[in-house]
Amino acid sequence: MKETVKDIDILAISKSTKVIDTFCKMKNVREVIAKGKTKATIFLTEGLEVDLRVVPKQSYGAALNYFTGAKDHNIKLRQIAIKKGYKLSEYGLFNRKTEKFVGGRTEEELYKLLGMNYIEPELREDRGEIESSIKNKLPKLITIKDIKADLQMHSTFSDGINSIEEMANEAKKNLKYIAITDHYGSLKIAHAMDKKRFQKYSKEIDKLNKKDFTILKALEVDIDKNGNIECPNEILKELDFCIASVHRAFTMNKNEMTKRICKAMENKYVNVIAHPTGRLIFERDPYDFDFKKICTSANQNNVALEINAFPNRLDLNDSLIKEAISNKVKLTIGTDSHSIEHLRFIMFGVEMARRGWCEKRNILNTLDLNKFIKTIKR
Ligand SMILES: [Zn+2]
Repeated sequence: MKETVKDIDILAISKSTKVIDTFCKMKNVREVIAKGKTKATIFLTEGLEVDLRVVPKQSYGAALNYFTGAKDHNIKLRQIAIKKGYKLSEYGLFNRKTEKFVGGRTEEELYKLLGMNYIEPELREDRGEIESSIKNKLPKLITIKDIKADLQMHSTFSDGINSIEEMANEAKKNLKYIAITDHYGSLKIAHAMDKKRFQKYSKEIDKLNKKDFTILKALEVDIDKNGNIECPNEILKELDFCIASVHRAFTMNKNEMTKRICKAMENKYVNVIAHPTGRLIFERDPYDFDFKKICTSANQNNVALEINAFPNRLDLNDSLIKEAISNKVKLTIGTDSHSIEHLRFIMFGVEMARRGWCEKRNILNTLDLNKFIKTIKR
């Protein structure tokens, strides 16, 4: 669940080499790069490299741990093993003197033998998880089952391709409530609404709320280059929820950008800063700001920061999420869906939250509707 992957590693338990033969003969193999008795590497027609490793049953946990990484995490585990008189490899944990197999059938067994609590794969980055595990202080990570809401999505009222009703009907299969956050203002590429169309939007949401599912009347509004919200108060005050974001004038120095976002948070109608760093993976770097100051301002104004779950955003990223929650900042997850197909991206938001050490209590989407409304109140 890192943001991007370079290749795929597959691990199998087998006594025969048949699994390797079958793997190398799959339909979409463009090239077999290497093939041995326990290992093969292929290149797919889709343009991705895939490694297959075959290990004995008793090695599965140790091998899974080894190939999951990250490298820095594994190096530390090996050092701990040495201190305890063991040797750790992808084949298992062995007694250093007798070279007898001690364990490693499962990852759980491996961590236990090393005197540690099980560490979830998302945490294995050597960012303090090993020390926390030894001290019994690992977070109880949030899961997708804890999520009751999706707090950013768009409809045909701005740049989405499904109606509000279609979005709601799809969302209610898994969620208790949603926020529809269509664009308001002058953002032309996003088909932003004006006052007149907002009235229609507002009526449509009121009408749909007479049914069995709650749709928060919300907007995604622009933060102009001076930190003002590009939406009149008479509109803002009609909302249940409001997210604000930077969509242009990205190039600014660190000081100016920090001030701009902090000023936006001072607007009493703003509840969330969406995709706070503005980065697009492989496309646009995050803008420069003082994150510590953003966190302080978020807390002072009771504004949450978003974990945008859209795959090319994933913004905040894992390390900023960790920093945010260590500063006690509240977070929301929004898929930024522009069609019903995108609603499933909520899992990527949850995964980012997990990589950032979030528990259920750190994420506002886990609250029941009434509690949520009370919590965001300014
Ligand atoms: Zn946006």
